[in-house]
This record gives sequence, structure tokens and C-alpha cells, in this order.
Amino acid sequence: MNVETAMPYDEALDRYEPVLGLETHVELGTESKMFCGCKTTFGAPPNTQVCPTCLALPGSLPTANAVAIESTIRIGLALNCSIAEWCRFARKNYFYPDMPKNYQISQYDEPLCFDGYLDIEVDGKPVRIEIERVHLEEDTGKSTHVGGATGRIHGADYSIVDYNRAGIPLVEIVTKPIPGTDRLAPEVAKAYVTELREIMRSLGVSDVRMEEGSLRCDVNVSLMPRGSSEWGTRTETKNVNSLRSVERAVRSEIERQAAVLAGGGRIVQETRHFHEDTGSTTSGRSKEEAQDYRYFPEPDLVPIAPDRAWVAELKAALPELPSVKRKRLRAEWGLSELDMEAMHNADAIDLVEATVAAGAPAADARKWWMGELARRANESGSALAELPITPAQIARVTELVASGALNDKLAREVLEGVLAGEGAPDEVVEKRGLKIVNDEGELSAIVDQVIAGNADAADKVRSGKVAAAGALVGGVMKASRGKADAARARELILEKLGVSD
Ligand SMILES: [Zn+2]
Repeated sequence: MNVETAMPYDEALDRYEPVLGLETHVELGTESKMFCGCKTTFGAPPNTQVCPTCLALPGSLPTANAVAIESTIRIGLALNCSIAEWCRFARKNYFYPDMPKNYQISQYDEPLCFDGYLDIEVDGKPVRIEIERVHLEEDTGKSTHVGGATGRIHGADYSIVDYNRAGIPLVEIVTKPIPGTDRLAPEVAKAYVTELREIMRSLGVSDVRMEEGSLRCDVNVSLMPRGSSEWGTRTETKNVNSLRSVERAVRSEIERQAAVLAGGGRIVQETRHFHEDTGSTTSGRSKEEAQDYRYFPEPDLVPIAPDRAWVAELKAALPELPSVKRKRLRAEWGLSELDMEAMHNADAIDLVEATVAAGAPAADARKWWMGELARRANESGSALAELPITPAQIARVTELVASGALNDKLAREVLEGVLAGEGAPDEVVEKRGLKIVNDEGELSAIVDQVIAGNADAADKVRSGKVAAAGALVGGVMKASRGKADAARARELILEKLGVSD
């Protein structure tokens, strides 16, 4: 791999202005494939979810999946698109071993949904992303190249193909060119894909797992010199499969293109591959033009003409969209915008919401998920939602703290026990003996014992150096293994030593 030069990001942005474009593919979570009845379960043994249609055997004919069409229309409506009154599928002709028909059934000049927008917020500023089209197509199979060092076909000994994915409904969401993002281009790209992912989730149309490829993003970037109004040649970085990589791909492509342009070179219109390890892109193939695909209307399928009343019904039945929900929850919970954004970035909002629903005050729910639990998730490299603890269990811990049965330190120990698989919060309290010492007699005995064992500190307190009481409180906490009420212990110490605060 030849390393290409890059211009430092700030310098690149001083000289050039980026224009973005994002094409996002979402695999729909339908039970069956787009044009046949095959199952779509992820991870099934290779070539077990196939039939004559998705293997393109002679004589087989496609039938469109109604649920997939409905899901696509709902996505379009959520993205403020117009819905076509009449449209057709189209054949996109190209050869690829993982596409047995030698063409993909897609949509070309008659997309199901078009002319929409998605409003996002970046750095507290609203940004409107115009949506050009949302169309429906079928996914390809999956090739695996074996024997090479890179996993690519070059240098491989042989290749194998799994057609389980061939024909899974795929929705492609294409933005119009996005100028004017300036230095925030990488963040805008990431925020857009993040919001798109949440909309898909709230619609329940896809599991949108980027790591499993059910949401993948092609990132288009071009640069134009500052002051120019003529857009530059763009490159398309294919199949970027994490939110962080979307951001990095935009950044590295800006830095690379700036270096090429500043060196008097020209940008080649091509597809590029993003490399997670280096955070940079390398050249793929030169980009086809639409005419290369010889599109024509798919003759084996009838046109789609969604009934207007049905579309109106689908629109009326859309769920509350994530950005609207975030605004509502922020008001209900009385949290700052910054807190809310941090929770959003940490994927914690649904968890906090469920914890509040289980009876916890919002501030406490936020505190635990964004504090102790976020730290644990970070340590173990897992997502918050993957931690082996439930919102109801967090709610129970906050209840125990509120009732005075636990203090914060003990509560953290309880969480640790639950995460370690020791059972529900109450069981952990029982097993580890974590209840606060509420018994006044017991606390008094511990205080006496600590005063007797720390004569020097006790004398200092008696002589008026109240600050020395801190050491005695520490002794009480230690002797009670953290289970004493520190404030009450301090009161008792001062009382017994005959001084007041
Ligand atoms: Zn099939």
C-alpha cells in the first residue's frame, strides 16, 4: 500500500471548502427476502437460506415483498420525503460473482421516496441535510477471499460465495450534496448517520448494526478552493461500517485531497476503501457512470402505486421521532442540553428512560448510567446496553440509597456485585453484608472504640481543633467497612468529646 501525503486538517480547511454526500444502505429486518420467501436470519450456515429465485436459476420469477415496500415508505415519510404515486423497479446490470442474476433489481429514475430532509444538530447548531431519494433494492451475496494477507481478491488462493444475503431488502438513502459544513464536515457526517440509525431503530425497520453490516455508509467528499463556487471532483469511500469511521473517513479524505490539489494534482473520480487500522483511505476502482449500468425498467415486476389513503395512514401512525423524543425527555427530566447530548452520544437515553419508568428519579438514573456504569462499560470495552444489569435493578439501587439503606459507596459495591453475576441488588446487599449501620448503639460502640484507639486525634479535638475529627470519622468508616453514616458518626464523635461545631 503506498502511503499518500496528507495536509494537516486545519491547513486544508484554510485553503479548501468540503462538500459532502452520504449514501446509506440499510438492510431491512423483514422475515423474508425482497423477491422470494427465503429467511433472512443473520449468521445462518452459508447457502442455507436460498431458493431458485435468489440463486437466479432459469425460469424463476421475483415477487415484491409488501412489508419491505411499507417499511421504505415509512422511512421516506420519517425523512420528510414525497412518496411516488407510481414507480418501477429497474435492472442495474453488472457482473459480480456474489450477484447470480448478473443484474441487481434496484430503482433508478423512479425512486419510491424523494425530496426530503433530516434536521440534525452539531455543536449546538441546527443543520438541515437534504435527502435526494430513498429507494429499495436487493442486497448481494457475500464473497470471501481465502489465502491472501489482506482478505481482498488480490493474492487470494480461492474465493467462496455465500448467497444467504443475496436478495435481502436493502434501502438506500441518498443525500443531496451537502455544502457549507466547513470545519464541522466530519462531525456533520457522523451526526447524520447517528440520527439516521436512531430513526431506523424507532421505526423498527432494521436492527441497524453497523458491525454486522445492516447499516453501511458510502462517504462522498470533494473539495473546492475557498472563494470558488465550482464543486470539485468527488471520491466515494465505500462501506464505512462504524460511526467513528464515518467521521475519520471524511477527515482523512479532506486531508488527502487537499495535499493532491495543493501539489498541482487532480482528484480522480473513484471509489476508495477505508482502513480502520490506519484511519486512511486507499484507491479502489474508478467510478462507473450511471450509463455503464444500462439501467432499464424491470420487466418481471409490476409497478408500485401506493394508495394515497394508505400513505396518509402510515404517516399518521409514525412513532415519535428520536429528536422530538429527546426534546420531550429533556424537558420532563429537567436536564441540561449538554447532559442530554452526552447521554445521546453514549447511547444512554433509552436506558435512562427505562430506569425512570422503573421508578428512579431522572437525575439518579442519569448519574448511575453516565458515571459508574459508563466507566465499567468503558473498562470492559462493551456498550452500556450490553452490561449485565437491568434498568429495574438500577432503579432498585436508587431506591435503597433514597431510603438510607445504602450510601453511594455501598451502592457502587452493590452494582459491582450485580455486574459480577451475584444476583439482584437485594441479594448482593444480603450476601456481601452491605447495609448501612443504622443502629445507633452499634455506631456508638464503634465511635468509642475509635476514640480509644486514637488518643492523639481525640485530644486535639478536645482542645478545639475540630478539623482533627476527620481522622476519627475516617477511623469509624474503616472500622464499619464503609457502612456507617459518616455525618452521624461525626456528630457522635464531637458530642462524646464535648465540643460543638
Ligand atoms: Zn430465495
